[in-house]
Amino acid sequence: MARYDIAIIGSGPAGLEAALTAKNRNKSIIVFGSRNLSNKMQVIEHPITNYLGLKNVTGKQMAEIFLDQIQDAGIAITEKKVATVYAMGSYFTLQLSDADFIEADAVILAAGVIAGKPYPGESEFLGRGVSYCATCDAPLYKGKKVTVIGGSQAEENESDFLAEICSEVTYIPLYSGEISFTHDNIKVVREKPVEILGGTKATSLKTNQSEIASDCVFILREAQFPGQLVPGLETDGAAVKVDRMMKTNINGLFAAGDITGLPYQFTKSAGEGNVAALSAAAYLDQKKRNAQK
Ligand code: FAD
Repeated sequence: MARYDIAIIGSGPAGLEAALTAKNRNKSIIVFGSRNLSNKMQVIEHPITNYLGLKNVTGKQMAEIFLDQIQDAGIAITEKKVATVYAMGSYFTLQLSDADFIEADAVILAAGVIAGKPYPGESEFLGRGVSYCATCDAPLYKGKKVTVIGGSQAEENESDFLAEICSEVTYIPLYSGEISFTHDNIKVVREKPVEILGGTKATSLKTNQSEIASDCVFILREAQFPGQLVPGLETDGAAVKVDRMMKTNINGLFAAGDITGLPYQFTKSAGEGNVAALSAAAYLDQKKRNAQK
C-alpha cells in the first residue's frame, strides 16, 4: 500500500497552501481533490478584491493561477474522493471512493464546508444499510434493492455501476437538469429525502412523499460531513474543532479552511493551510525523534 508523510484532503486554497508548505518542508505528500481545484472557486464571477497579490481576479482565474503555481512546484492533484479516514493510532488509513487504500503518517483535512446536516438515521445506520461509497460497498448488496441520493451528476456513473450488481436502483437527484443512465433497472424519483428508517439495519428511505424500501441507501454527496469522513472527530456543528495550531482532537490529524468554521474566506483558508502543514511537519519530526530514542 502506498504510504505518504502527509495526506491532504482538498484542493482549494487551504489544501494547496498546505501542500506548498509541506513540500517546502521536504515531506512526501498526496493531495486529493479535483483539477478545477474547488467548485466554489469555479462559480465566483465577481472580482475578488480581498486576496493580497491577486488584483480583481474571478474565482476561475484565481484557480488557474493557483494550478500553475502548484504544477511549477511539482505538486500533482489526485482526482479521487476520500471516503473514510481511519485513525490507526500512529498512522492513518484512507479509504478512497474507488475502493483503493493509502496510508499516511499525518492528515490535513481541507475539504471545505458542507451545508445542511446528516439525515436522521444516517449516522445510526452507517455500515448497516447506509453507505458513502458505491464502489466499496456494492458487492454487499448483490441482487438487492438500493437507493442512491445523488449530490451531483458525477453520481450517475456510480448508479450505473450499482445497477450492474443490484436488482433495482432508485435514484434521487439533489440537483436539477437532465439525467441519463445506461441501465434500465434505475428509476429516477424526484422527491426530498427525509429520514432513513430501519431496525437492526436500514430498511427504507422516507421522503417527503413516500417510503422507498431499500437494503442500502447510498448517500453520494459532493463532500462529506467531517464527522462521517473521520470517525471519532470532534466537531461543533459543521465545523471541525481545532486549536490555534490547527490540531484536531485526533493526534496527527489537522484541519484548515472553511471546514474549521467561519469566516469563509480565501485568505483565512490559505493561512490555516500554512499553519496546518507546519504543525503536521513538526508532528512528524517529533515522531521521528521519539522513534530514535
Ligand atoms: P474549498 O474551496 O471548498 O475546497 C474544498 C476542496 O475539498 C475541493 O477541492 C473539494 O473537491 C475537496 N474535497 C471535499 N471533500 C473531499 C473528499 N472527501 N475527498 C477529496 N476531496 C474532497 N472568499 C473571499 O475571501 N472573498 C470573496 O470574494 C469570496 N467570494 C465568494 C463567493 C461565493 C459565491 C462563494 C461560494 C464563496 C466565496 N468566498 C470568498 C469563500 C471562498 O470561496 C472559500 O472561503 C474558500 O474557497 C475556502 O477554501 P477551502 O480550501 O477551505 O475549501
